[in-house]
Amino acid sequence: MKFSELSKSSQGEMIQLPLDITVRGLAFDSRQIAIQSGVVFFAISGQNHDGHQFINDAYEKGVRLFVIEREVKMKADASYFLVKDAIAAMQGMAKSQRSEFNYPVIGITGSNGKTIVKEWLAQMLDDQFDIVKSPKSYNSQLGVPLSVWAMGHHHNLGIFEAGISEVGEMERLERVIGPTLGIFTNIGEAHNAGFKDLSEKAMEKAKLFVHAQKVIYCASHDTLKQALTKTVSQTTQLIPWKIKEQKGKKYVLDVQEKELSFFLKYDDPASVENIMHCTAMLVVLGYDQEFIQLRLNRLSSVKMRLEMKQAINRSYVIDDTYNNDLYGLEVALDFLGRQNQRSKKTVILSDLYQTGLSSDALYQRVNELLQKNNIQKFIGVGNEINQSRACFHIPAKFYSSTQDLLESGYAPNDEIVLVKGARDFEFELIVNSLEQKAHGTILEVNLENLIHNLNYYRSKLAPETKIMVMVKALAYGGGNFEIANLLQFHKVDYLGVAYADEAVELRKNGIHIPIMIMNVSPASFRLLKEYNLEPEIYSLDQLIDFLDYYESMQDLPAIHIKLETGMNRLGFTESNLQRLIEQLKLNKQLKVKSIFSHLAGSEDPRHADYTKQQGERFERMSTTIMESLWYKPMRHIVNTGGIVNYPELHFDMVRLGIGLHGFDPTQTEQGKLKIVSALKCSVSQVKKIAAGESIGYGRSGFAKKDTTIAIIPIGYADGYLRAFGNGTGQMLVNDQLVPTIGNICMDMTMVDVTDVPVKSGDEVVVFGEKPNISELAEWIKTIPYEILTNVSQRVKRVFLSE
Ligand SMILES: *Cc1c(COP(=O)(O)O)cnc(C)c1O
Repeated sequence: MKFSELSKSSQGEMIQLPLDITVRGLAFDSRQIAIQSGVVFFAISGQNHDGHQFINDAYEKGVRLFVIEREVKMKADASYFLVKDAIAAMQGMAKSQRSEFNYPVIGITGSNGKTIVKEWLAQMLDDQFDIVKSPKSYNSQLGVPLSVWAMGHHHNLGIFEAGISEVGEMERLERVIGPTLGIFTNIGEAHNAGFKDLSEKAMEKAKLFVHAQKVIYCASHDTLKQALTKTVSQTTQLIPWKIKEQKGKKYVLDVQEKELSFFLKYDDPASVENIMHCTAMLVVLGYDQEFIQLRLNRLSSVKMRLEMKQAINRSYVIDDTYNNDLYGLEVALDFLGRQNQRSKKTVILSDLYQTGLSSDALYQRVNELLQKNNIQKFIGVGNEINQSRACFHIPAKFYSSTQDLLESGYAPNDEIVLVKGARDFEFELIVNSLEQKAHGTILEVNLENLIHNLNYYRSKLAPETKIMVMVKALAYGGGNFEIANLLQFHKVDYLGVAYADEAVELRKNGIHIPIMIMNVSPASFRLLKEYNLEPEIYSLDQLIDFLDYYESMQDLPAIHIKLETGMNRLGFTESNLQRLIEQLKLNKQLKVKSIFSHLAGSEDPRHADYTKQQGERFERMSTTIMESLWYKPMRHIVNTGGIVNYPELHFDMVRLGIGLHGFDPTQTEQGKLKIVSALKCSVSQVKKIAAGESIGYGRSGFAKKDTTIAIIPIGYADGYLRAFGNGTGQMLVNDQLVPTIGNICMDMTMVDVTDVPVKSGDEVVVFGEKPNISELAEWIKTIPYEILTNVSQRVKRVFLSE
């Protein structure tokens, strides 16, 4: 299809067509762009995200074809047309791709387990078929067309997942996927907002199967059966399965009037259900018990995200050992490319499987990707990649096996290493050897959720309102460079920090967007100029020091003027405004970037009058200053709470802090945010304590009866405050909340696990989804801010991304 034909079939209005070329790929997110020519970038303006902002990124990556929803400035050699709905245009394009192929396509939907069922099904069938499947959990209105677009003539089975959040969406996905076979995993309470009730939700989801030949579901879910019967066509065969019997790890599956028994190695209830969906599908496809059991034995767990971990020698390792296809490599390389905190980048890659390309073509392509992404060093592991070593034109080393690489003594140094391999290469061994292992406790930071929250707050702003994100205190404990990096990529306008050193560290780690510093002492004036940093000026004395220091300079650093409007902290008061204005008039070379103030109680409606007063004072004071200037500085006053409660006070910019981390200080929209951080460790030891014995320092905890305790490797030096001791705090172990017992130690905590089956090595959640930071804060009568910023620097941060 030529670009002009795509325009016609999408009823687009062609604006510019310097070159009409054949469409070869589609993208809606600049990170998903493959390097071949012919990629069309669809600029989608959603509620929380505006693809038009990423047009330049896409252009810089080499894209010249664009489908856009509103006019923006375009380069002369870009072809583009306008449509009302870019998502619909993209879906139309994927649908026509889908119609080229007649091989079976399995569609999967349901509330939980879609991705795992898809991945496991692919693991069980990957030596029988050349499979094309959704990458990661790409199951949305955008993810589905992107997945289906990858269908090719060298495949003979498609497996795609579909997820919806409101009525009307599934029809669109059904048209794109056109599944011939289906799996309806289950229906749960999750994501209910877009539906009247459970049965409406089930009926909507069932629409994925309206034209399917066969649909598999679990007989014990009544809602599924009702929804399917009401929705699918007469010719669709419904295939329920159930578990007839279970003894230990042996399960008897009843499907299509057969009873087959299997041993399962994953036997928690969710895994059993997921495995049985896959097993039933294999039965339907005609495989026998023995064949299926062999595949079940080989299943390996599915990691849903790539993880960036702090590694030895000031390095990071990006762990993406879960799949290894070209598309996944592109996504991972892009993630790597966005990490500016180290300039040296290395990729360790195993043989790639099932790409439909010849070895040489494949590895030439990999080489291009590596070059394009400025990778300095490559390490290839496996026989195939070894044989194609001539394809690589960057410094490279090759090993025939993972073991060989491990024995070579490889160690990174001040770099970021992407580790990406097919399952059977067991690259987790490499990750283990590179990870920093000083300490078993980790703070997991979910970067996708962080961006979700950013976009949520952005959706509350007028399009022209700017956003400053406060990343002081290690980005509220989350990790400075990594989060700042991501915010920079997502085009926030400003970063705010407390001290000059924090800002210098950001600059040294690849952050180039403007940074405001709140507390600048004369000792750090030198750094401002050197690192292009902008200080907050809050008093006359400070202003005079600043002007003295930069006395003879014409281009001194721009400043932000802080006004005192009611916080009674730093800032110019109304009474010293005139003297400030005199100074500004005297020093015309001084550029005031913004005038701002801070609200004392924006989160709480009880302080609404006070907040309004602050707003009025700010308006009055800032207007007085602006009247004396010949240009117009920005104005800003709201923090997270104010973004929600006081849209009338947004002015030119807002300052987002805790909301980014998934905590709504107003407590009115908590459901719209996603939890970002989880503090986790694993049980060191489990011990039986006889009734009457004491536990820990100071002997403040006693076993009232015979008690089992677990020792957890986290203490007050990690930020788990001593106030949590003696039952005040709880941790989640094997899905149950267990209380602390005795005093918290510097590096350890004991919890009472008498009623919970626990063994050493089991995961412990200190905070996360459950218990969440608000609960922890309540237990010790503090605020979530303090819980987050307490997590000590010695706790390793692990960053998760899709
Ligand atoms: C920390 C801070 C913010 C962010 O506050 P949140 O309540 O976390 O949104 C905004 N402005 C200033 C001046 C701050 O110091």
